[in-house]
Amino acid sequence: MTETFDIAIVGAGITGCAIARQLARYDLSICVVEAANDIALGASKANGGLVHAGYDPAPGTVKAQVNARGCELYGTWAQELGFLFRRTGSMVLGFNDEDRAHLEKLRSNGLANGVPELSIVGPERIHELEPRASADATCALWCPSTGFVDPFEVAIAALENAVANGVTFMRSAPVEAIEVAGSDATDGAARFTLVTPVGDVRCRYLINAAGNGAADISHMAGAEEFQMVWRQGNIVVLDKEPRALMPLYPVPTPVSKGVIVTGTVHGNTVITATAAVREPGDTQTYTNDVNALLTGARKLVPDLDTRRVVRAFAGGRPVIKGTNDFFIGQSDVVPGLFQAAGIQSPGVASAPAIAERMEHVMREAGVALRERVDWDPIRHAPDDFDRAPLARKEELIESDPAWGQIVCRCETVPEAEIVAAIRCRPGAVSVEGVKRRCRAGMGRCQSGFCQSRVVAILARELGCDPSEVLLEDAGSWLVEGPLKRVR
Ligand SMILES: Cc1cc2nc3c(=O)[nH]c(=O)nc-3n(C[C@H](O)[C@H](O)[C@H](O)COP(=O)(O)OP(=O)(O)OC[C@H]3O[C@@H](n4cnc5c(N)ncnc54)[C@H](O)[C@@H]3O)c2cc1C
Repeated sequence: MTETFDIAIVGAGITGCAIARQLARYDLSICVVEAANDIALGASKANGGLVHAGYDPAPGTVKAQVNARGCELYGTWAQELGFLFRRTGSMVLGFNDEDRAHLEKLRSNGLANGVPELSIVGPERIHELEPRASADATCALWCPSTGFVDPFEVAIAALENAVANGVTFMRSAPVEAIEVAGSDATDGAARFTLVTPVGDVRCRYLINAAGNGAADISHMAGAEEFQMVWRQGNIVVLDKEPRALMPLYPVPTPVSKGVIVTGTVHGNTVITATAAVREPGDTQTYTNDVNALLTGARKLVPDLDTRRVVRAFAGGRPVIKGTNDFFIGQSDVVPGLFQAAGIQSPGVASAPAIAERMEHVMREAGVALRERVDWDPIRHAPDDFDRAPLARKEELIESDPAWGQIVCRCETVPEAEIVAAIRCRPGAVSVEGVKRRCRAGMGRCQSGFCQSRVVAILARELGCDPSEVLLEDAGSWLVEGPLKRVR
């Protein structure tokens, strides 16, 4: 089976989903082609969720431009797409004169990059802003525009909105080869054919947002040759706190922002992230890395109870070998191919601006972008039972008793919310997909209590046997025999 679109976007990470959402406002047929069976299964599922403000990247780089702008756009994106975003501000803590000199440098970087309201503050103000910050900190760079999000929620919300506006999502469709016909796309013909095991996709314009697979896509299309480096990072998540911590950063190193401690939109504390070049695909956590995280975190927040770790995980930043910058633009070799490659950190913070820049690049390249009259920028977020006011909770239970059947006790997720996560478009097709959409299994017990119930609900909703239900992607079955006493 072959389907034809104006635009195909390879990769349903936060970059591809943001671009799909940005372009969905135009009169174009668009398909997002994803190797995995769900949204955000690459770097976008394993990161700190920080919306860095943009004082870090060297001025003049693409990163510098899209980071500060992305951070600015998050307010509007969160409002329109109904995802959680907290703009708490952040501090980079300094402990001596050398650190202070570094903070001054970050501040002037930030000013050059357009980051608003940066200032250097002393111990009293540090304590006022974040009472749990180390009392040994003598100075800090205070940056009010930093915030944090749940990164999968952002990607899911963006693609849901794109799909509601007519974008097609093709999952479990790894692009294995790309055929390129003719010399350009000006005649209106589909120029690219993407070969996948579930059918071919033909398109006039191709957008490469394949994360760590971006070099392969560029190579398959006969475009720029580059190599990806898997800059791996370990992260740990601590149990919920009564108050989410403001993101606290150390003075950065040349390749990383160092070990950061931050609250999350769900009230947990996250310690993120180490940085080491490792084998592509390595998502193991390492004792040394975890120890480095815990030690680094205690330096910033001495009273942090690091015994409260509920989860450790790892991901790989998609870095282009030989550059520390993003590559966003039309290919010089293959016109009609647009690259959003090397989206290492801060790809989450930059995503809305990467999408905006991609739109600009395409317009400049002559792609006809005619606004649709029926484009709807609003995504109506599904009901979050745990956060809902009591009156809404009662209303929901009244409408369907399944809203009162709590399946995940740690996160207070009822059966009806899980069903909604499966039935939405594009819906969850795995236990982890459910978890990313409504947090069932995300809490303190890490799904020890609710996993079998979620498996049963997925089996019922997807019309399959529990033994066919996946934990995550293809091949990750969980159940070998019948489930005991599960309705
Ligand atoms: C440990 C760690 C911490 C981080 N912390 C932060 C942070 O706090 N803030 C921040 O801003 N950034 C952070 N980042 C960076 C951020 O996670 C990435 O920049 C961002 O997720 C990249 O998104 P992406 O969509 O470009 O790539 P991905 O999320 O990797 O998506 C690419 C997609 O392309 C698909 N794909 C690949 N090849 C093919 C193919 N051949 N056919 C079809 N599909 C294909 C993949 O399956 C994948 O789903 C962190 C990264 C790591 C690893």
